[in-house]
Amino acid sequence: MTIHQKNINIEEIVKADIAHHFHPFTDHKTFHEAGGPRVITQGDGVYLWDGKGNKILDGMSGLWCVNIGYGRKELAEVAYKQMLDLPYYNTFFKTTTVPATELAEKISSVLPKRFKHVFFTNSGSESNDTIVRFIRHYWKLMGKPYRQHIIGRRRGYHGSTWVAANLGGMTAMHEQGGDALPGFHHVQQPHWFDFGGDKSPEEFGLEAAADLEKKILEVGPENVAAFYGEPIQGAAGVLIPPSTYWPEVQKICRKYGILIVADEVICGFGRTGKWFGFETMGFEPDIVAMAKGLSSGYLPIGAVAFSDHLTKDFFAKGGEFYHGMTYAGHPVAAAVALKNLQILQDEKLVERVAELAPYFSNMLKALADHPIVGEARSVGLIGAIELCKNKKTRERFHEPGRVGGICRDHCFNNGLIMRACWDTMVLAPPFCVSKKEIDEIGRLARLALDKTHADVKAELA
Ligand SMILES: *Cc1c(COP(=O)(O)O)cnc(C)c1O
Repeated sequence: MTIHQKNINIEEIVKADIAHHFHPFTDHKTFHEAGGPRVITQGDGVYLWDGKGNKILDGMSGLWCVNIGYGRKELAEVAYKQMLDLPYYNTFFKTTTVPATELAEKISSVLPKRFKHVFFTNSGSESNDTIVRFIRHYWKLMGKPYRQHIIGRRRGYHGSTWVAANLGGMTAMHEQGGDALPGFHHVQQPHWFDFGGDKSPEEFGLEAAADLEKKILEVGPENVAAFYGEPIQGAAGVLIPPSTYWPEVQKICRKYGILIVADEVICGFGRTGKWFGFETMGFEPDIVAMAKGLSSGYLPIGAVAFSDHLTKDFFAKGGEFYHGMTYAGHPVAAAVALKNLQILQDEKLVERVAELAPYFSNMLKALADHPIVGEARSVGLIGAIELCKNKKTRERFHEPGRVGGICRDHCFNNGLIMRACWDTMVLAPPFCVSKKEIDEIGRLARLALDKTHADVKAELA
């Protein structure tokens, strides 16, 4: 591996970071007390290196995004050439650039036929803000201005701008930022492990879907604009809905004429073993939000695809849509995303995810015998391990997130990145992961579980 940045003084970087860098999603008090950041300096394949030279297996693909893996030169080369040709031009006011148009066409080609038009953003949050504005304006144009309410799920994650945070169901996020925005509602998330009780997962899937219908009736069906969901809830802890859930949700939405939005920011572009999570979960959305895997995280870019039946009327009504970001369809980001999708196709990486899925699942399932593991589940290359103190009753440890945090730290210190969503450990390795590397994930995960077990043994039921 060639190292391009030499002579980095890591101690200086750490000092400067503590002095000047205001980090997102960080408790700054404990951050300072713990001696500042771990500096990540390089990546290759599924591995990262930190400033001290430690090699770490990235079981999370960064933040669920570096799907083709680190160190792909082709993406750097495409970015370099595009910057020389045209580093920037916008896509407002009837102009475009070659990569922006080619990427819109490409995204449309990997989606079902009805998704002919793609709107560009720079992130998942912006994609979701865009969708909320579109939907509310759409229903006004359609003569139904009362259809403004949007229903999501508890612990849903749709990003961190204020609209996206309200759309999501993370209560800790709602509590920071002032009064809740009007018109956002949240219903039962399909998390059998925590909420299924004695019911079968299939029965529970129907029950979770029924909670949506209850909310629709409460708000008034004519007032509901859309139902919003990640096919698999990622940040909530990789909640894989029972097979009954999404088909029932779709039936309910169709019954009341409510639009379905799939937030594919994590699931999209192959993570579940098909191009999109809705294909794996068996439903047909009207709008699709994308980001993360679109460029494998090499540059920031997001997108929204709209079904024909929406854009046909929206375009025909005329009038300007007063919405767009300066960098929407940024030519360099678009060129990189285009190359990323080309690599997914040329190297059959989505098929590779499907092929590796049983092996990845077996690795996780083998961990389910561990004394603090209540369940291990996965689809494609996304999975979760539930930590609990009583395997039979699925009773959790006290203080949600405490034991998950312990386990995450053991992982990191042993050379594996596994994220903790409260007490659910989650994994989403790059698609280039080998069977040998999956074995290594299993070995390092068990080591972390053993160490966590030793720390909490006294609490076990
Ligand atoms: C990460 C994420 C987002 C937000 O994307 P950003 O690029 O961080 O704004 C939205 N939805 C889902 C499902 C995500 O996982």
